[in-house]
Amino acid sequence: MSSKRLAVVGDGMVGRRFLEAIVERDPSWEVTVLAEEPRPAYDRVRLSAFFDGVSAEELSLATELPGVDVRLGEAATAIDRAARAVRTERGEYPYDKLVLATGSAAFVPPVEGADLEGVFVYRTIEDLEAIKARAQGRRHGVVVGGGLLGLEAANALRLLGLETQIVEFAPWLMARQLDEAGGGVLRRHIERLGIDVACSTGGTKISAASGRLRMETNVEGLAFDTDLIVFAAGVRPRDQLARECGIDVGERGGVITDTACQTSDPDVYAIGEVAAMEGVCYGLVAPGYTMAEVVADRLAGGEATFPGADLSTKLKLLGVDVAQFGAMDGPLATTYLDPAEGVYAKLILSDDARTLLGGMLVGNAEPYPLLRASVGGPVPAQLADLLSSGEVQAGLPDGAQVCSCNAVTKGDIMGAIHEGCTDVGALKDCTRAGTGCGSCVPMLKQLLAEGGVEVSTSVCEHFTQSRAELFDIVKVTGITTFSELIARYGVGAGCDLCKPAVASILASLGGGHILDGEQAALQDTNDHFLANLQRNGTYSVVPRIPGGEITPEKLIVIGEVARDFGLYTKITGGQRIDMFGARVEDLPKIWRRLVDAGFESGHAYGKALRTVKSCVGTDWCRYGVQDSVKMAIDLELRYRGLRSPHKLKSAVSGCARECAEARSKDFGVIGTENGWNLYVGGNGGFTPRHADLLLADVDAETLVRTIDRFLMFYISTADRLQRTSKWVESLEGGIDYLREVIVDDRLGICDELDALMASHVEHYADEWKGVLDDPEKLQRFVSFVNAPETPDPSIEFETVRGQRFPAGTTERSHTGPVLLGTPERK
Ligand SMILES: Cc1cc2nc3c(=O)[nH]c(=O)nc-3n(C[C@H](O)[C@H](O)[C@H](O)COP(=O)(O)OP(=O)(O)OC[C@H]3O[C@@H](n4cnc5c(N)ncnc54)[C@H](O)[C@@H]3O)c2cc1C
Repeated sequence: MSSKRLAVVGDGMVGRRFLEAIVERDPSWEVTVLAEEPRPAYDRVRLSAFFDGVSAEELSLATELPGVDVRLGEAATAIDRAARAVRTERGEYPYDKLVLATGSAAFVPPVEGADLEGVFVYRTIEDLEAIKARAQGRRHGVVVGGGLLGLEAANALRLLGLETQIVEFAPWLMARQLDEAGGGVLRRHIERLGIDVACSTGGTKISAASGRLRMETNVEGLAFDTDLIVFAAGVRPRDQLARECGIDVGERGGVITDTACQTSDPDVYAIGEVAAMEGVCYGLVAPGYTMAEVVADRLAGGEATFPGADLSTKLKLLGVDVAQFGAMDGPLATTYLDPAEGVYAKLILSDDARTLLGGMLVGNAEPYPLLRASVGGPVPAQLADLLSSGEVQAGLPDGAQVCSCNAVTKGDIMGAIHEGCTDVGALKDCTRAGTGCGSCVPMLKQLLAEGGVEVSTSVCEHFTQSRAELFDIVKVTGITTFSELIARYGVGAGCDLCKPAVASILASLGGGHILDGEQAALQDTNDHFLANLQRNGTYSVVPRIPGGEITPEKLIVIGEVARDFGLYTKITGGQRIDMFGARVEDLPKIWRRLVDAGFESGHAYGKALRTVKSCVGTDWCRYGVQDSVKMAIDLELRYRGLRSPHKLKSAVSGCARECAEARSKDFGVIGTENGWNLYVGGNGGFTPRHADLLLADVDAETLVRTIDRFLMFYISTADRLQRTSKWVESLEGGIDYLREVIVDDRLGICDELDALMASHVEHYADEWKGVLDDPEKLQRFVSFVNAPETPDPSIEFETVRGQRFPAGTTERSHTGPVLLGTPERK
């Protein structure tokens, strides 16, 4: 029998999955693949990683496929159904069966000027290369679209160093996955990163002038002057080949198929984003993979059918967890909102409140797998408990889907672990889980732990070492740069996980000013400008006020600076004064006035010591038994500038009445009749924890020495972003073990810890002054790199209660978490 000829049009994610499946199930097919792109299939879901330094080669999905002829850069131009052949500009390819896997094209709304130079879409590696080239030396970009794709594109522009504006036609972000409240919480997260958002806004016309672009909008008087525009406003199936040869297409596009993925021509199948499965187009990769398997099965003689698709999504967008599962709407809803932490959750319930129908999560997607697996069943525990426990994976049923890109369940993963998979890499190879968007990788680690496997503590894929190991390496080798560390001990170019972690280690070990040389590029946004970025692109300035004690003269200086620079002032919970609304180019001028008056940076922006609060102490208080103010000042001056895995907060109370709330701090001190009690490992925030008593009734010298050791032991051994509370809990033996190490010197390391702290105290230098004294560092404090004297005109204010606020902010009344626990009838 002559061989069977199979033609495949499109070598994208789904096309490639199909090729792998057919080669495995029925290698007797002679396969020709017509691929328009110049390179073989690559991971489009991870496309944005390209801007994190992941190369096109690393994104490639190309595999050895015997018997498959992939013709790169050769697009199909027509299908001749009568002759059963596909045409290209180079030739004609006969087929017995044809599979269309042409995917989608980015949708560009009919806006005049959308074809101008500097206007892009976000779909292929070539698109990203062109965006990157255009961004060189430019400062501003607009993304049209505030859905999943638009937010990814906005992050890409941000990574390219552009000020970024999102323009979204719907009234809120991610309107297809979130309700208005969820979209609002997401918006606040995104604006905090310095990305501007304009909702209910659409571009109407683009024009070019003097090398820049101007986009006019449907909102009167609103236009954006920008350097580049990216359309990321949805996709349209690439169905023209089918349309032109008379195969049925859907009213809203897409090649119509039945559940066998067969089109109106029984010899032609359609899979992936081009397919309109029973009229529905799926814009996600998982349903496409299922279709690929169905067709491979059919061509191998099977009878598989498409079982339906779960459109649940869980993503980390710009560092923010967002998830949606099941129904978006229903008869009852229960919601949870914590505006301070930026967490929103909503569960949709049946009429009798017994069955979970769906829901959405913003800011904390920990409960997603459990909730998603519970859709159609009884409502799980209290939503608030689920959101705060962080232990939800343990209750996950076996049928719960862990990897939605590849439809892998917890049961599949536990099975693989029992068969011998002992790390994430092996699980990826064995089950494909984690090989799509990668958002389930942390969960794979948790399941390995649940399966009794000791889990790797490596910082990220670029370093196999834990943060503690990297700390030791830097300490022992004396390496002072990230590039040397990764060249000698890591792989690749680094990422958002390892760069700030290494920056913190270098700073903890006295690596010089954090904006020195290449160190500057490693820092988070706030560290980059030694100030906290606010929602309208301005910064806040927090001078250190040790122990909360301040002279009238210094108070007057703060008042004058705030008045002269038009800054909103607020007394913070950490007993100091925060000045908001500073333009980036004003920061050095503000610091100059403050530094001249004797102030220094309060490190409100850093993972470092923030404040040491105090009560009024013995001098003024009738109950005080110790001088809490002096102790707080001494401690704050000793540990100022100390960089650590997470922020550090402290407080000193002069007596057991505890007015400074020392037991909610990383280290807290309480005066007693006989001396001082030291508490460690407390924190406020989302999951409050009272600190544990480490020492009782000790003198000041012992107290300070023990805090020195506590901090240095924590900094040397904790994981990245691990608060002291979690670190103490993670120590085998907990607080008792900690006491043995830093008080009894069980490990013999106390001299070293003491020396590390002595070095910190000796080398401390104010970071603001370090910038003021260095013309090169000063150069980075401009709004526009190419027009240093020009302030950003997009920053606007309005006056409320006698002070300046960012223009257009409406929700100022929230004061704390609002828990709406009981179901409300809609
Ligand atoms: C930035 C980005 C992020 C995404 N994130 C996610 C996510 O997190 N989760 C998720 O599930 N999905 C995500 N997606 C969607 C996902 O990438 C698609 O669902 C998936 O790629 C669809 O695979 P496909 O093979 O159908 O189409 P594609 O991957 O687009 O492949 C189609 C291929 O066919 C080629 N082609 C088209 N016409 C012809 C022709 N006439 N001749 C020859 N070749 C042709 C195209 O050039 C292309 O190479 C994302 C997409 C993008 C762009």
